[in-house]
Amino acid sequence: MKNIKDYSLEELKEELKEIGEKPFRAEQIYKWIYEARVSHFDEMTNLSLELREKLKQIYEIKEFKILKKQEALDGTKKYLFDVLDGNAIETVLMEYHHGFSICVSSQIGCKMGCKFCASTGIPFARNLSSGEIIEQIMAVERDANVRISNIVFMGIGEPLDNYDNVVKAIRIINHPKGLNIGARHISISTSGLVPKIYQLAEENIQCTLSISLHATTDEQRSKMMPVNNTYHIEELLQACKEYIEKTHRRISFEYALAKENNDNLEDAKRLVKLLKGMLCHVNLIPINKIENGAYTKSSNENIMKFRDYLNDHGIVATIRRELGSDIDAACGQLRRKNLNVGDVSNRSKIEQKGQT
Ligand code: SAH
Repeated sequence: MKNIKDYSLEELKEELKEIGEKPFRAEQIYKWIYEARVSHFDEMTNLSLELREKLKQIYEIKEFKILKKQEALDGTKKYLFDVLDGNAIETVLMEYHHGFSICVSSQIGCKMGCKFCASTGIPFARNLSSGEIIEQIMAVERDANVRISNIVFMGIGEPLDNYDNVVKAIRIINHPKGLNIGARHISISTSGLVPKIYQLAEENIQCTLSISLHATTDEQRSKMMPVNNTYHIEELLQACKEYIEKTHRRISFEYALAKENNDNLEDAKRLVKLLKGMLCHVNLIPINKIENGAYTKSSNENIMKFRDYLNDHGIVATIRRELGSDIDAACGQLRRKNLNVGDVSNRSKIEQKGQT
């Protein structure tokens, strides 16, 4: 079965043409899916019974099941979704003063191997399709009964390693007839896949690019992030400069501060040197310690000193508010599973048994 949410409006028009239908039907279907949010083709009452039957033969309206939901003291909600093939992914809903923000996963597992991140060590299973990326937003909106205004690709996975699906998802999220969320309210975070940054610069999407920088020397960064062995800091920053030149968009650099690792004044000085003159912003994240992780959070004093040094030397820096840390929903704490893959498929087997 094809997931109807995997298609851009243009693609769906082509699909319908292929089965002998008029392309405007695609717009009607889009309205049912993204505006009325129906779960069944039978609810699409302005389509003929015959067409509804035809659609049911070919497509499904994939809706995730919630396997687990946790709520933090600050209201942050973490969802573990069954993506209906035996895999599970995590998605986080956060409330800010300006509205609701969602942190979506882009892959099932991650290949990047960053040493400080909980998604590391989980074997990579597969990319999420664009429809599955979008369904995270729709499933959370259904459950929490909210409208999401901001999306960050900072869940599990490296978004630029699933480039085509992520870009297509953004176009559908952004489309007035899709979820209609402005591209400026969407951020993609990358560990630094340089060729993909150049490619993204050509897409003409006004989303925000975040770069997980975290260190100021290649030696230091390679220890934390193996991707740095392939794309060194200089190459990465060159790509960022060209991205800014092309898109006129400000880049956000993520810098997770770990005690006695990357948080002293020398680091701050080097960071200023590296970023001087760039249209950018630095997001300082107190590193979240993960199970068996070598890195621990810097002291508040050091974090503030670091921020002040950057601000005093012409680099705009803020400290990211930590949300959801009591339910392991803060930055870098997401895993593919609380239940493992086997558990999910066992569970559906049990449910099936129960039904028979
Ligand atoms: N692969 C992408 C997106 C996922 S990680 C990337 O690397 O950017 C989302 C953000 O959380 C990144 O900035 C990442 O470096 C950061 N992060 C990962 N583990 C963390 C941890 N333990 N503490 C704080 N931030 C972390």
